Amino acid sequence: MSQSRISRRKLIKAAGALSAAQIAAKAHALPRRQPPAALPSEHRRVIILGSGFGGSITALRLVQQGIPVTLIEQGRRWDQQLKAGTTRFSKNLYPDGRSTWLSGKTVIPMGPPLPIRKTTGVLQGRWLAGKTVLNGAAYGGGSITWGGVMVKPEKHIFEQVFGDIASYEELAPYYDLVGKKLGRSPIPDDVIASEPYRHARVMKEHCEKAGIKWEPIETSTNWDIVRDELDGKVEPSITRGEAVYGVNSGAKGGLDKTYLKEAEATGLLEILTLHQVQTLQARDDGEYELTINVLNIDGDVEAVKTFTAEKVFLCLGSISTSSLIAKAKAKKHLPRLNDAAGKGWGNNGNAYALRLGIKDSTGKIQGGPPSVGINALDNPHTPVFIEHPQLPVSLDFHGLLYFSIGITDTRGEFVYDEKKDEVTIKWPKHDQGQEKVNDALLSVLKTLNDANGGWTSSLLTYLRDKVKDDICFHPLGGMVLGEACDRFGRVIGHPGLYVNDSSMLPGASGCCNPAMTISALAERNIREIAASDF
Ligand SMILES: Cc1cc2nc3c(=O)[nH]c(=O)nc-3n(C[C@H](O)[C@H](O)[C@H](O)COP(=O)(O)OP(=O)(O)OC[C@H]3O[C@@H](n4cnc5c(N)ncnc54)[C@H](O)[C@@H]3O)c2cc1C
Repeated sequence: MSQSRISRRKLIKAAGALSAAQIAAKAHALPRRQPPAALPSEHRRVIILGSGFGGSITALRLVQQGIPVTLIEQGRRWDQQLKAGTTRFSKNLYPDGRSTWLSGKTVIPMGPPLPIRKTTGVLQGRWLAGKTVLNGAAYGGGSITWGGVMVKPEKHIFEQVFGDIASYEELAPYYDLVGKKLGRSPIPDDVIASEPYRHARVMKEHCEKAGIKWEPIETSTNWDIVRDELDGKVEPSITRGEAVYGVNSGAKGGLDKTYLKEAEATGLLEILTLHQVQTLQARDDGEYELTINVLNIDGDVEAVKTFTAEKVFLCLGSISTSSLIAKAKAKKHLPRLNDAAGKGWGNNGNAYALRLGIKDSTGKIQGGPPSVGINALDNPHTPVFIEHPQLPVSLDFHGLLYFSIGITDTRGEFVYDEKKDEVTIKWPKHDQGQEKVNDALLSVLKTLNDANGGWTSSLLTYLRDKVKDDICFHPLGGMVLGEACDRFGRVIGHPGLYVNDSSMLPGASGCCNPAMTISALAERNIREIAASDF
């Protein structure tokens, strides 16, 4: 939605209360925004929409085949040279406009929303399916805002979720490849022994005392930079819990430092940031037409561009890819989409809960990334994986946060409302599948409390419930492989149109964080497509 249109409408409404003379004086005082210029249509052979995990991998593998590609991204680049004395990203505790995508207040739900300047910051939150659904909005997509957690599903759970979409053996080399590329590794002993990781040590000790199996979580982290933070050689960032608004020290791994950097170095990658896709339409000549708003950093539309392309890869993330598809489906802009297009969305069983009253100190400052997890795949309620993310509040609150990832049967459908020009997700009020995941999480926390003391708090839910599931960090599905697309992401009914992002997953990633599986599938798919369709 055009931000400039909204603000102009408000301006006109406010102006209605003024006298003609006041209006004239006001019009003179305000900088006049010109209507966005419509620029002549441009043609490209291949356009990739979105620069997150799927988009970056697609871009690198195509340019490596000598195929020039244009990468379109709504967010800003954050990997450029910094002016001395400035930080790249917003701080966690006192966030500014760089934290959040086009919102006057923060969207992260761990605490009250804080007022900020509305600008093209890195974390986007949308209210859908009765949840705040989050995603990265930047060059590098979710890798700017992620925790760096790289968990691979276990084979039997993978097979339960993915069925015929892909075999575990087929993906195994791609999991390894992605892990190597993003520097996947566990937290080293000297780091977890340091003060900012006291909370992770408490988590481990409590599991051991309760007889609960814990496991190290591998992440995309540069531990040498973490050590530099600990030694005071660089300003502390990840060791103070920074993650969701970006890590200022550079300790967190990301696509802008790896896949995208390599792709750009070939000279075959055209990068268009602050370009926001609005519509997608099939043309009679077999090509695709895109309309794109060119934004300034405050989100105002400066110009409108039209592109045509022979091949288009949809890598906008589950919500944006599926929304674009739902809109195109409703407007009959992609008339041959099948019935499954825009369906099969799920929340990856996301929920979280807080333990308080722990007698040991859990540290005044909790460092990231999350490094210890509980594999509760045999939980009697439902299989669940639980990790313990840092909660950076600068206060020793004698508490630990727990985040669960499970599998539910509930699936949503994207629906386009023509009048409001808005997409919503049809989602049941009562989600029985999620309740099982919540029960599984609470049962594990009860075992921890029984053995170690402490209680599960309802503080985060304003004293309503002990578990919070009105948040989704892992939106998945909407253009599921083997349903709306073939096994490799070719959109059924529309040759030359592909999906290679989180929308291709069947609403769950198999009791683990999804980025590794999205990436492994994206690597597999683009190899097949580059070999067969170019
Ligand atoms: C705070 C947070 C922490 C997370 N931590 C982890 C973690 O540690 N490990 C893990 O596995 N997963 C994590 N996730 C989930 C992970 O980030 C996503 O699953 C993953 O990024 C999805 O990848 P993708 O390729 O589908 O798209 P994304 O990475 O979401 O990239 C899509 C890109 O498309 C752009 N875009 C969207 N709409 C438009 C438009 N209209 N025009 C142009 N560009 C557009 C976006 O700005 C974005 O850059 C986290 C998510 C959040 C929100």
